[in-house]
Amino acid sequence: VIGGVARFLEIRAREKNMDIRLEGEDAPVVVIGDGDQLTQIFQNLLDNALKYGRPSTPVVVRWTQVERGPAAMPAAVRAPCLRVSVIDQGEGIAKEHLPRLTERFYRVDKARSRAMGGTGLGLAIVKHVVVRHRGAMTLESEIGKGTTINLFLPLYEPTLG
Ligand code: ATP
Ligand code: MG
Repeated sequence: VIGGVARFLEIRAREKNMDIRLEGEDAPVVVIGDGDQLTQIFQNLLDNALKYGRPSTPVVVRWTQVERGPAAMPAAVRAPCLRVSVIDQGEGIAKEHLPRLTERFYRVDKARSRAMGGTGLGLAIVKHVVVRHRGAMTLESEIGKGTTINLFLPLYEPTLG
């Protein structure tokens, strides 16, 4: 799915005049999941990177395979994962807000958010879809420097018989 999603993102980003850099192997990676939902969540992340990013700085989408999911993942399912990071160089998010960002309707700056439009559901949907795919999401952010959102999606591993 991801290769196709990446291509799609590139097109969407160009439409919005956004400088997006895709950094990852072109090798096929198989994640079992709902293609529409996965496309939707990457779109939500790009939308945020665009809304809250700094003009004329690129947004990087980087993916790689990792041996194990993050500690945020239930131990039983800390399997090899595809990690996709969406990295922007925008305003960043203060630490105290990080734990609440994936709540529905939660927004850091209500007045500004109203001006920008949207509902505050974007990250709640991302979290929901990732969890449904038995994955995890982690957030790193520094005020004034930018934000990195990491998604971990378990890889499809055929059982050899
Ligand atoms: P919607 O996604 O429904 O259009 P939204 O973008 O406000 O609305 P979320 O995507 O859930 O809602 O994000 C929640 C809040 O987290 C945002 O209002 C914003 O304050 C903050 N936020 C999200 N992504 C970033 C980012 N990349 N940089 C800075 N702040 C962010
Ligand atoms: Mg959003």
